[in-house]
Amino acid sequence: MSHPTQNHGANVATPTKGKLLIFSAPSGSGKSTIVQYLMQEHPEFHLAFSISATSRPPRGQERHGVEYFFLTPAEFKEKIEHGEFLEYEEVYQDRFYGTLKSQVEQQLEAGQNVVFDVDVKGGCNIKKFYGDKALSIFIQPPSVDELRRRLVSRATDDAEQIERRLAKAEEEMSYATRFDKILVNDDLATAKAEAVALLHEFLTPNP
Ligand code: ADP
Ligand code: 5GP
Repeated sequence: MSHPTQNHGANVATPTKGKLLIFSAPSGSGKSTIVQYLMQEHPEFHLAFSISATSRPPRGQERHGVEYFFLTPAEFKEKIEHGEFLEYEEVYQDRFYGTLKSQVEQQLEAGQNVVFDVDVKGGCNIKKFYGDKALSIFIQPPSVDELRRRLVSRATDDAEQIERRLAKAEEEMSYATRFDKILVNDDLATAKAEAVALLHEFLTPNP
């Protein structure tokens, strides 16, 4: 179910300095790999990562306030009730993820180009709110079999979680055409180069 917050419009639609780059994809497509590459290797784009809140526990080396703000389910629900989210989704059962309004507004005001790594519904919602200020990119894997291989070799989720992610992938793939651009991540070097070209085109002011 989609949960865009009702009363955010007046706050977020005001003119802001930075732009928004939205990346969505089924889990395992290589979205984080491409986003991290852009952020680390392309300082000329002045990118800042939008740190979401989630009710899932940290995995691997993840730290609070870096990859996510890790909240308990009760803390997450409290923020929903206080209208603190620009959008949020129950991406997997009992696993909530959401974009905090305050976080995005601060980053845009500081002139940063804000990068979102969000699920397909969240991506469409953020694009709808921000229109031409946002570029939405769908990272498409070559196949569902390849997604499975990548999730297994990433080795960060147990078998049950991998099956949950794959079960969702088919529905997520059907959202691809709602995005501004589709970026196929088959050969990684090619996908990175295409991502750079897309950002360059979007962020370079017209003469
Ligand atoms: P996502 O953020 O979309 O869930 P990740 O970036 O974590 O996906 O990538 C999932 C796994 O696939 C990682 O182990 C990553 O190193 C690997 N990977 C990413 N892109 C490719 C690619 N083009 N070819 C092969 N493996 C890839
Ligand atoms: P993961 O558990 O792999 O970090 O993320 C699971 C999914 O949640 C990914 O598709 C990721 O893009 C999505 N996600 C992360 N943050 C947000 C958010 O703030 N909003 C929404 N809608 N999805 C998010």
